Amino acid sequence: MKVLKSNNKLVRYDRNKVIQTAMAAGAPLKLATQIASEVRGEGYDGMTTDEIRMRVYIKLKKINPDFAERYVYRSNMQVRTSSTSLDNFEIEKIINSLSEETRVDQSFAKKIAKQVEKELGRMRLNYVTAPLIREIVNVKLLEHGMESVRARYTRLGMPVYDVKRLLESGSRDIAQYSPEAVHKLMSDQIAREYALINVLPVDLADAHICGQIHIHDLNYYPLRPTIFSHDLRFFLRRGLKADGTGEYTAVAGPAKHPTSALMHALKVLIAGQTECSREQYIEDFNNVMAPYVSGLPYKDVKQLVQMLFYEISQTSVGKGGQAIYAALSFNTSVPRYLRDVLAVQPGGRTKKGLTYGDYEDEAEMIFKAALDVSLEGDALGKPFIYPKVKVNVVGKPGDDMMHKAAELTAKFGLPYFLNSGRQFFGNRRGTIQHVTLNLPQAAYVPRDPMTVIDNRMKKAFEVLLLKKKVVSRNLQHNLLPFLKQKAAGLRYYNPQKQLYVISYSGLSEFVKNETNEDIKSKAGSSYASSVLKSMMRSVDTFREESELDFILTGAPKGICYTRFAELDLGRYGDRALVRAERNPYYSKTHYVSSRRLSEKLRVEGRMNCIVNGRTLTHIRLCDGELHADDVLKMVNKTLSRKDVKYFTFSRDLTVCSKCGHVQAAITGKCGSCKSPRVAVWSRDTGHLQNTRTWNRSQRQAYVDEYRYDTRGRGVEVSARQKKTIMRYGDGKTA
Ligand SMILES: [Zn+2]
Repeated sequence: MKVLKSNNKLVRYDRNKVIQTAMAAGAPLKLATQIASEVRGEGYDGMTTDEIRMRVYIKLKKINPDFAERYVYRSNMQVRTSSTSLDNFEIEKIINSLSEETRVDQSFAKKIAKQVEKELGRMRLNYVTAPLIREIVNVKLLEHGMESVRARYTRLGMPVYDVKRLLESGSRDIAQYSPEAVHKLMSDQIAREYALINVLPVDLADAHICGQIHIHDLNYYPLRPTIFSHDLRFFLRRGLKADGTGEYTAVAGPAKHPTSALMHALKVLIAGQTECSREQYIEDFNNVMAPYVSGLPYKDVKQLVQMLFYEISQTSVGKGGQAIYAALSFNTSVPRYLRDVLAVQPGGRTKKGLTYGDYEDEAEMIFKAALDVSLEGDALGKPFIYPKVKVNVVGKPGDDMMHKAAELTAKFGLPYFLNSGRQFFGNRRGTIQHVTLNLPQAAYVPRDPMTVIDNRMKKAFEVLLLKKKVVSRNLQHNLLPFLKQKAAGLRYYNPQKQLYVISYSGLSEFVKNETNEDIKSKAGSSYASSVLKSMMRSVDTFREESELDFILTGAPKGICYTRFAELDLGRYGDRALVRAERNPYYSKTHYVSSRRLSEKLRVEGRMNCIVNGRTLTHIRLCDGELHADDVLKMVNKTLSRKDVKYFTFSRDLTVCSKCGHVQAAITGKCGSCKSPRVAVWSRDTGHLQNTRTWNRSQRQAYVDEYRYDTRGRGVEVSARQKKTIMRYGDGKTA
């Protein structure tokens, strides 16, 4: 006999199933078997499941109405599956999904499924959802001590309440609130949980959760690399496939005109942003663009650069509708590594004998244009947050150029200075993943702190190695098509060549805890050096073992320094040596707080020289108008130091939302139109941001830092200014 199911499929009559369901309703085996046989006898091909149920019901009712009632309840039980259809509850579905998804053996799956069925029957629900059944299965798994099976079987997602809050009040995790942003935050949650539950082994996930280490951009850990530095010549030579393959988007040939070349640069950044989680760099920007502006007057070059700045800062396509995180690096003169390299010409070819060294003037013009455009700011006069401008000081740069850069520092606290004559990352390289160690915590646990640090270094190492596997697998599965594209047999992105970055937070608190000395003191800084040297030894071992570029750096990143402090204060109470107990934080990396800039630079410089990664030295300038000449002196003095390779000066900018007026001070009112609708912009660890989007601890750290005048004397932020910053609510954007 064939039975017609509700999905219109014909299946063989399953006598056992009828027996089982009748028994589940309370009928003894003998009766259940009898009913099943009777139904079989009365049946015909094409009989529906509903009709079978009806017959079983009638037969049960004649013998015992209780059996019948229970039977009708059970057989009516419907399950809302995630595909929003309603299916009849079938125990086989649990058995199948459990054994398929978790690989437990069939008999165990059956046992669990039976218990779940019993549980559901006891609850007497009108209908149950598939997620609910899954949760009950999970509870049963836990009762059987199957924690790891449960981790594989569980669902990822977020509570209804959280989604509602996200829709209604935004989140400080994202500066620009939009429907795209909300979507991103919802999916971030799943990706983050997936990383913790399914990608990372338990000990590494726990290390992150307990704040021993911080895995940056965990939401992107299972998906993409962090930072990448593009080689624009790759695209200028070959043209551009924005989707990596040319299957879904138009394919452009090599740019012939300056506008197309700049647009290609933009498209590379846009496409790249969908596959990297943080900044993207274009190295040697002014040099590789130089051949394209050959013969153009300065006015036109500036117009082009301005167009690119607007395009970058207004194209909100990255990561849930945010701006592209772009950084362009400009060389003050043609660096040695480019001087004799044949220059890619409009049309994608090179010409014999024509090298980048021959385009010195054009490169300088592009650099000047970038500084002029940055100085003017946008139509309201606000600074461009993106692209970040990195000035790579090569050789002895011309005075007017550096003066202009100093003007930009005086006005907006931009740009970044790199004192090396080398590329920042190198072409087609970048941070594949960044992990930060919580140093102070190592002193709270009852073990030798250096052993603890060593152990955490190993965990960071494992996290980074695993990320290599993740990215390699994603490339293999075509999940990163733009980075995967090949030319002349060479893949654009090679995981082997990337940087595997480890940094640390709270060195000075750790030193204080261990030695009771300030990091500025002789004994304190010696101890700090010995800690970093020991960490460097681990890094050297990792480098040797893996043949990968492991980097130890003092580069601060993200808000892990507040997260660590908050966790430690909660867990270790008084023993946690945090700054500002009410809004706890640790110092960023090896940041040194000093009333004298020279002292700060000297102590930080000592640490800079131990680690093998480039460390950003961050100097905050004091309130009010600054003269570019004075700032230039500061810049040049910093450039002359051997222990500071990469630095920037920050200003506190009060930006008026009404008239756009920008004032280099923390105030609660616009200096021009007197409107109170102002926001203070500054830099925490990365780019310029509205300080309202920071959490309380970030803002506390911000106001606690010294500002320096042009003679290097430290000034404290006034009580009134502190109040202005600290009274922002909880840092929510909407
Ligand atoms: Zn105003």
